[in-house]
Amino acid sequence: MNKIIYADNAATTKLNSKAYNAMLPYLTEQYGNPSQPYSFSRNVKHALKEAKDCIANCINASPNEIFFTSGGTESDNWAIKGCAFAFKDRKKIITSDIEHHAIIRSCEFLHSLNYPVNYIKANNKGVITSDALANYITSDTGLVSVMLANNEIGSIQPISELTKIAHKSGSLFHTDAVQAIGHINVDVKQMDVDLLSASAHKFGGPRGIGFLFIRKGTNILPYMNGGSQEQYMRAGTENVAAIVAMAVALKESLNQYANTFKLISLEKALINRLSENKLVYNKDYIINGAVENKLPGLLSLSFKNIEGETLLHRLDLMGIMISTGAACDSVKTEVSHVIKSIDVPAQYRNGTIRISLNYENTIDEAIKIADSISKVIKA
Ligand code: PLP
Repeated sequence: MNKIIYADNAATTKLNSKAYNAMLPYLTEQYGNPSQPYSFSRNVKHALKEAKDCIANCINASPNEIFFTSGGTESDNWAIKGCAFAFKDRKKIITSDIEHHAIIRSCEFLHSLNYPVNYIKANNKGVITSDALANYITSDTGLVSVMLANNEIGSIQPISELTKIAHKSGSLFHTDAVQAIGHINVDVKQMDVDLLSASAHKFGGPRGIGFLFIRKGTNILPYMNGGSQEQYMRAGTENVAAIVAMAVALKESLNQYANTFKLISLEKALINRLSENKLVYNKDYIINGAVENKLPGLLSLSFKNIEGETLLHRLDLMGIMISTGAACDSVKTEVSHVIKSIDVPAQYRNGTIRISLNYENTIDEAIKIADSISKVIKA
């Protein structure tokens, strides 16, 4: 296969090589069920404990506040439904209109069961402000869920300001940190969140594994009923190899924060090249989201009178992998709810693409992406 330029790391990432090596023994020799009391399972049980300790340490939580799940979608579903089903009087849920569908559709499901749900509109930078939350919060609000960083435009939300408002009114606060964790600092105590969702494949871990942080004492129902795994909260034999790899990948990704500067310089090189190619001069595109406070390496661009879908396919033919928005919705060609919410002007909406770089991309690749985009657009 010819070498591709992979610039869709917000969709999924390459498995970190240390994470890959760490998981191998648990797929081959160390296959004992961690719940068994015999000596063959002792190492496996210990590996699970170490993984949990490591993950807890990375986000400033306690190990018994980390619950393994099958990924971001499950963590989000559990957080929203598990809290809602535990509510007695405070049944209202507040979320934002730029959340991932794992949150939005969980809320829609609860709404169909007569739970009141409010969606806060993001401002035109893709930010949910504390004033906006304050307008919605009432004494019957049981849960507020606002993502830490948006998956389509990268805008980072002021979570610690939002948790203050939620907690003042006695509501719980959940954040979907799936895109943020491993890319920016995540500290559950500093943000003061009650629940936080994460998914390994967004930070160099395997697909199909994630976790939900549940602050000790939070009123939430179990997600899966069955065995005693995960403190009876999420039953099912653990995917030990994936869990071990997730912990290694998360720890490794913390060492990569230093690469933030590299990501910023890659973005700059790409934007400067588009500008040199006269795209900026002609006002042919806009950069979406909170440019000054967003995920490093994630660029959402909307091109005037261009089909983002066509651009994606032309770039694919040139060996460049980008996306038009959220990967999980690539079957739909309509404009995403995030792009609509932040009021991207009509002529630009359909021409939206997301480029998500990681530290393995090079300046040459960033320039090649810009040149290829310019070539397609000029053609
Ligand atoms: N939440 C956000 C913000 C995401 O970006 C994604 C995946 O794109 C998910 C949740 C779902 O995660 P997973 O693919 O692990 O189910």
